[in-house]
Amino acid sequence: MKILLKNAHIIKMDDSPMLNGDILINGNKIEKIASNIDGVVDNVIDCKGNILLPGFKNAHSHTGMTFLRGGGKDLPLQEWLFTYCFPREDKLTPSDVYYATKVGIVEYIQAGITAALDMYFFPIEIGRASEELGFRMVLQGMYNSYTNKKELIRLYKEYNSKKSSLVTYQIGVHAEYTLGEDAKKNTLEVINELKIPFYTHISETEKEVKECYERHGVSPVKYFDDLGAYKYGGAGYHCIFFSDDDCKIFKEKNVSIITCPGSNKYLNDGLCPVQKYFDMGFDVSIGTDGPASNYDLNMFLEMRLIRENNPNIPCYDILKMATRNSALAMKLNNCDILAEGKLADIIMLDSNLISDKIDIAQSIVENGMKTSVKMTMIDGKILYMEGKFFFGEEISKMYENCEKVKERINGEILC
Ligand SMILES: [Zn+2]
Repeated sequence: MKILLKNAHIIKMDDSPMLNGDILINGNKIEKIASNIDGVVDNVIDCKGNILLPGFKNAHSHTGMTFLRGGGKDLPLQEWLFTYCFPREDKLTPSDVYYATKVGIVEYIQAGITAALDMYFFPIEIGRASEELGFRMVLQGMYNSYTNKKELIRLYKEYNSKKSSLVTYQIGVHAEYTLGEDAKKNTLEVINELKIPFYTHISETEKEVKECYERHGVSPVKYFDDLGAYKYGGAGYHCIFFSDDDCKIFKEKNVSIITCPGSNKYLNDGLCPVQKYFDMGFDVSIGTDGPASNYDLNMFLEMRLIRENNPNIPCYDILKMATRNSALAMKLNNCDILAEGKLADIIMLDSNLISDKIDIAQSIVENGMKTSVKMTMIDGKILYMEGKFFFGEEISKMYENCEKVKERINGEILC
């Protein structure tokens, strides 16, 4: 299948200037980008001057938390987790996660998010939901009562063996403060045996850092580094309360910083010092975090918060955080920018964002909205165009299934 996207303003995110031209897609890859492409194809789409951009990559989420949305507001992080989320999550079945994840994926696609790094229960079900909807998902596998060490290794190898072009697998833990001895030992053995990066929530609140000092005499970053977790790099989610030594460890070990400003605001965690990390040369990435600790799964909102809190970071660099940097932190090196040979994960944004007064990146960061997304293409397939989804599955049914999960679990909690 060949698709030709014609007459577009193309922002490749490779630091080259915006190009007025066409993109030819062959199968799931970009075959050519040029100012004019002709030839026989299956589908020609006139982009009418709209903007083509690599899809947004959501570098940290718990997509299936759609069933927890809106509850426990105003609780601090750990209370919110232990009294609101965890009791409900204890009641989740694999099919609950499958249904709850589908709703999150629909919202990603509508918002121009073409991939997510997802840490949640029953990752096989998350992978199944993603494959069925055509969404690119990086699963974060974890050692727990369902997945022993042998199974973690098997899943890592199986998902990353190119069996699926959409679903890949990385490994990590939830956080230092929820990490049991068994999970610690087994996860680190897997990380070292496979020589792979390590992913976890880290230094999200002052309380977390203080209690880690009380337990281990060191910061969470130093704690994981002393265990050898960062030997092969990885990423930390949130990274709000880092000391200079923590920054040094992340820099030396090539560990990515993933900021989640929407969630941090929702839970009143504190402000991530993005400007400081940017000045230190970190390629900061962005995550929405789960939909239970964010009003929306919306990268425009995250970029705007970063802009407001860090007015000296150029908007192009903020756009880069949401696209290229996040893709690289998720080990999705084949869809970080728009270039020949890269995977065709492309979004189309409304040309009304183009202005004579401000540059295009500034306009996207400051004025872009979910409704600016006119098309979302993942793996060469158009999944969303001008308000319409192309799933072969009804959206209302997906929301109905998720609502049933929510009602059943809330009912069990109240009993
Ligand atoms: Zn999280």
